[in-house]
Amino acid sequence: MECQIGVISGDGIGPEIVTEAKKVLDQVGKKYGHNFRYTEILMGGCSIDATGVPLTDDAIETAKASDAVLMGSIGGNTSTSPWYKLAPELRPEAGLLKLRKSLNLFANLRPAYLYEELKEACPLRDDIIGDGFDMMIMRELTGGLYFGERKTEEVDGVVTATDILTYNENEIRRIAKRGFDIAMKRCKKVTSVDKANVLDSSRLWRKVVEEVAKDYPEVTYEHMLVDNCAMQLVKDPKQFDVILTENMFGDILSDEASMVTGSIGMLSSASLNDTKFGLYEPSGGSAPDIAGKGIANPIATILSAAMMLRYSFDLDKEADAIENAVKQVLKEGYRTIDIMPQAGESKDGITQVGTVKMGDLIAERV
Ligand code: NAD
Repeated sequence: MECQIGVISGDGIGPEIVTEAKKVLDQVGKKYGHNFRYTEILMGGCSIDATGVPLTDDAIETAKASDAVLMGSIGGNTSTSPWYKLAPELRPEAGLLKLRKSLNLFANLRPAYLYEELKEACPLRDDIIGDGFDMMIMRELTGGLYFGERKTEEVDGVVTATDILTYNENEIRRIAKRGFDIAMKRCKKVTSVDKANVLDSSRLWRKVVEEVAKDYPEVTYEHMLVDNCAMQLVKDPKQFDVILTENMFGDILSDEASMVTGSIGMLSSASLNDTKFGLYEPSGGSAPDIAGKGIANPIATILSAAMMLRYSFDLDKEADAIENAVKQVLKEGYRTIDIMPQAGESKDGITQVGTVKMGDLIAERV
């Protein structure tokens, strides 16, 4: 297969972790007979330095012409970097928001997977963790409360703030379809999360999800109220496969779910539109505190590349190969500094490695 991949290395640790993800992809290409071609796209602080803006129109066109985009991270130290003295629309993060909007990336996917070897990093009790958990949060990304009309005004002498939460049936249908499609690639279970006992937008959400579910007879689905879901995530996370939810609920629940898996350096993510195109990136930022030291964990970016193979290119076997290689390396005891055992925990059989070595080890095991 020929795949044209746009690559946003970005700032801070971005170039270091993206290099390792490309190394692993190249190994997959060699082993399974695919040709991954890369085009660099400037975005974030490095684009500001080179062009004066965080994302040029040319860069957007290059991204649109790609089959998928793999990204490291953008931004710098928000207290000291000169990028943060610029107007908000000229700062690094404005580039990412513009890219998401230009590409209509309305579906955000964040897996929460607990590796057996990193169980110690999970704050839950052993009996709750059991054999571990593996869920996917599917969050609507371009509608709802964060994009509604907002205002702060004085009403009868009292300062009053208003935020409007709107969803139309089309916005709900397209994300619901995405959620059920993803469930078909996994354990075929969808938990749709809403607040239908209170909100009209949630009642419409529930109705449209039920309509969409009819097209997926193999998928079991259930509705869950968001407050209950927040509790269930820490009480019994094993029950979930795909959690499908709107923008604000997804924002909160995905952070809760990721917290129970341990390090930020392990968390991949994808933002998709209604084609096969996707933007794949680690959940963490540019980590300016460790940039250039060769110690950043590249695993989240490598796992984001695996998501790209699975969701943009339908290369499931190849994505499995990357995910299994990551598991193997952890099983053999290799760790970057962020996932090393904490003080008081055993370090028997554990070897600390840097960014490049971790990439080499995973590529070798693909
Ligand atoms: P951060 O995620 O960059 O760092 C938080 C902590 O996690 C730091 O201690 C860092 O060293 C550590 N960390 C993050 N990724 C790691 C990795 N792969 N390996 C090991 N340790 C890792 O968050 P922050 O410090 O709040 O933000 C720094 C910059 O990143 C800011 O400019 C912020 O706006 C930007 N940011 C960008 C994105 C993105 O590119 N999508 C996302 C979040 C933050």
